[in-house]
Amino acid sequence: MTRQRTNSVIGSRGKQLKNAILGLLKGVGNRGATIHDIRSRLRVGAQQHVDRRLRELDASHTIERRREGRNTFYVYKGVRRKRLNSSAISKSLRAEVLHAHGRQCQMCGRSPAKDKVRLHIDHRIPRAWGGKTVFENLEPLCSACNEGKKNLFKTLTSKQMREILATKSVHERLARALHATPGKPVPARFLMLVANSGTVQDDWQKRLRELRYIGLKITVSRHKTPEGHVTTDYTLTNWVRLPSDTSERIRRIERSRAARRTPQ
Ligand SMILES: [Zn+2]
Repeated sequence: MTRQRTNSVIGSRGKQLKNAILGLLKGVGNRGATIHDIRSRLRVGAQQHVDRRLRELDASHTIERRREGRNTFYVYKGVRRKRLNSSAISKSLRAEVLHAHGRQCQMCGRSPAKDKVRLHIDHRIPRAWGGKTVFENLEPLCSACNEGKKNLFKTLTSKQMREILATKSVHERLARALHATPGKPVPARFLMLVANSGTVQDDWQKRLRELRYIGLKITVSRHKTPEGHVTTDYTLTNWVRLPSDTSERIRRIERSRAARRTPQ
C-alpha cells in the first residue's frame, strides 16, 4: 500500500490551526510560547506542522522569535499593516533553507565555501506553475544549475504544467509530464517534483515503471556531471492515449500479476 499524505507546497491548509495559534499567542502576550507549548496547549497532533503555520502567519502578522537557551519563544506583536509580498523570500526563510540543505547546490552538490559558486534560493515548483514561497518548495541551486533548470522549464508552458500538477493520479501526472517533451530526455529531479506534487510518494520511480503496464515505453539513461554527480534522465519512446482511470487500471494489472506469482 502506498502511504499518501497531503502537503501544502501547493495551496494552503490548516486555517483553523493558524487561528488557534494566533489566539494562543495573543493570550500569552510578551511571555510568548514555544512550539512545544503550542502543541501541548492546543493538543496538536504530531502530523500537524506548527512551524509551517507560524511561517505562514508571518505574512500577515508580526511574530518575533526570542531565543532562551535551547528554546525559541514566539511572541505576538500585532497585525502587519502591509502584508509581506507572498512571493518574496524573507531573510530568515532564506537562512532556514540554506541551513537545511547544508549550503550546497541541490543539483550538483557544489558549495560557496569549497567551489566558490553562488547559491540562489530556487522555487522547486515555479511560482508561475502554482508553486508557493514556502520552506518545502524552496532549495538552494548554484547559478549554473539554476540556468539549466530554467532552460528545461522554458520548454513547458505554465498552463500545461498547472494542469499536469493539478491532476489527481500520480501515474497520469508522470505520463503527461514525459509526454510534454516526447523523445527528449527528462531529468529525474523534474519527474520527482511532478510525482510529489499534491501527494508525497514513497516510491515515485516505481509509479514511473508501472506506466509500462498500460503500454508506455520509457528509456532510462545515466550520465555524470562535470562535478562527478550521476544524474538520471527518462525519455518517453512510446505513447498511448491514457485511459480515464489510469491508476485504477495499473492497480488491477498489478493485483492480477501478484496473484499469478503467489501460488494459492
Ligand atoms: Zn549546481
